[in-house]
Amino acid sequence: MICLALCAGIALQAQDKKEYPKPEPMTPGMTEFWVPQRAVVTPGDAATAGAPSDAIILFDGKDLSQWCSPKGGPAKWEVHDGVFTVVKGSGIEDIQTKEVFGSFQLHLEWCTPVGITGSSQARGNSGVFLQGMYEVQILDNYENETYINGMVGSIYKQSPPLVNPMRKPGEWNSYDIIYTAPVFNEDGTYLYPPRVTVLMNGVLVQNNTTIRGTTQFIGHPTIAPHGDGPVRLQAHGDPSAPISFRNIWIRKL
Ligand code: MG
Repeated sequence: MICLALCAGIALQAQDKKEYPKPEPMTPGMTEFWVPQRAVVTPGDAATAGAPSDAIILFDGKDLSQWCSPKGGPAKWEVHDGVFTVVKGSGIEDIQTKEVFGSFQLHLEWCTPVGITGSSQARGNSGVFLQGMYEVQILDNYENETYINGMVGSIYKQSPPLVNPMRKPGEWNSYDIIYTAPVFNEDGTYLYPPRVTVLMNGVLVQNNTTIRGTTQFIGHPTIAPHGDGPVRLQAHGDPSAPISFRNIWIRKL
């Protein structure tokens, strides 16, 4: 009896010991992708942050042909000496790109004039609205304090910048903005909220920051469903000397 039981057990074990094909040993090539090869992009001049070959030039120093008034009609800001400048006074209004964008990489440069006066928010205030909805603040915060979630490099009233790399008035500052557009649920809430990384003068100030909704002056962010939108530049009503822009280009992502 014992022998029978043992023999049956051994036979059962032998049945369980099936041989299966063994995976091939890993080789370096098994984790390498070769296709599709990436588009060749010729980078711009490093010294001038020139546009790479696949960028859309939004301002090249000549005219505002890529821009318009948010109310319709031509952009009213002044082009001179290879830059353009916010027009202050009556009839002040933002300008925005004629083309609309989803996710993108944006480069722009801006400068507040020597001798600028004012303090806190009333000193070289402008802003870049991503998809016309979410403001990355532009402000002269060189030796000028304000609330930190409204200072230069902030996502306005939401996320302060990591540091303040502001150059002094009369010197040009740059923004390099990598923006990921939101995806909405059918009920109008975010499935994926917008996200943004911002380098100011080559220094990281927003690191893949989640944008929580519209950047309101008064009140909390609101979520408003939208599609592709323009890049909009703010004409702020503060009485300080106007801000200027140059060298603006964008790459769709
Ligand atoms: Mg602003």
